[in-house]
Amino acid sequence: MDKLYEELIKYCEVECDIPFSKMTTLHLGGIVKYVVYPRNIIELGETMKTIKEFNVPYKVLGKGSNILCSDAKYDGVVIRLDRTFDDLYFDDDLCTVQAGLSIITVAYEAMKHGLTGLEFASGIPGSVGGVTYMNAGAYKSNMANVIEEVLIYRNDVFEWLRNEECGFSYRHSIFHEHPDWIIIAAKIRLQKGNETEIRELMDNRRERRLQTQPLEYPSAGSIFKNPEDKFAWQIIEELGYRGKWNGGAFVSDKHANFIVNAKNASATEFYELVCAIQKEAKEKLNRELVMEVEKFNWD
Ligand SMILES: Cc1cc2nc3c(=O)[nH]c(=O)nc-3n(C[C@H](O)[C@H](O)[C@H](O)COP(=O)(O)OP(=O)(O)OC[C@H]3O[C@@H](n4cnc5c(N)ncnc54)[C@H](O)[C@@H]3O)c2cc1C
Repeated sequence: MDKLYEELIKYCEVECDIPFSKMTTLHLGGIVKYVVYPRNIIELGETMKTIKEFNVPYKVLGKGSNILCSDAKYDGVVIRLDRTFDDLYFDDDLCTVQAGLSIITVAYEAMKHGLTGLEFASGIPGSVGGVTYMNAGAYKSNMANVIEEVLIYRNDVFEWLRNEECGFSYRHSIFHEHPDWIIIAAKIRLQKGNETEIRELMDNRRERRLQTQPLEYPSAGSIFKNPEDKFAWQIIEELGYRGKWNGGAFVSDKHANFIVNAKNASATEFYELVCAIQKEAKEKLNRELVMEVEKFNWD
């Protein structure tokens, strides 16, 4: 075994040669040299020191539900918090939750505590870290509306950022500009509500997602951000891309802003389809379609 592995294993669980396809909802992407699972902030701090000492690239991954990894090998370290940073605490209407926990679990726990405010997130398959990073949202709400503070690790220090310091905007946050920062936890402020009403709203929305989204296929949700004046799916439809294939990648005929991995697509096939749509949108409609899904490990 190499020196980096020998150092990492002192502090955390390490897995080697794991494909991104096993860690992302698109089920796409090449092999990752090291995947690490620190169990607490001490292990995380030591792991980060090691990574920096060895000067290797690293990437934090949540549930992998908003990322398109290339087919290439990643000769770096993927840090995963989802097996270990998964506690949550309720204090009246404030929920403090670690970054690795699924936001769907948080939404359901909030509902059981009779707390309203997270119903919009009850169908978003991301981690607390990922939804904070993305300012994920639905039904006219988003994480910025409920997050009070975010605990981050940056420059070897753990510190809390207030909501207004997080630079939240549509599917964006300050964390996009600082990929070296790690989100550790968030404080989410909710309101007292009625458990039955909250459950009904969440059930209705789940039904709506099942009816309108191709959840039977691997995807990363909406591939493009919605321009201000129109939905991205309308533009894709106008271009005639609904139901189009490229290799195993398919523009869903149920929801045209979902490109799905319908038949063992490669990341390259998937991305070719993305580029073809962007190119035609520009040439035929003079429209910029910006990816909401993040590309990672591409040249
Ligand atoms: C079926 C489906 C439906 C979806 N519906 C919605 C929706 O309604 N609304 C919506 O907004 N999105 C939706 N998404 C997209 C996705 O779930 C969100 O963008 C979510 O926020 C991604 O979270 P994640 O944990 O999977 O992040 P990942 O995909 O793992 O990572 C995304 C980015 O966040 C960073 N990141 C993750 N965790 C941390 C951390 N702890 N510290 C620092 N950086 C971190 C990663 O480095 C990466 O840059 C959907 C996706 C799918 C597959």
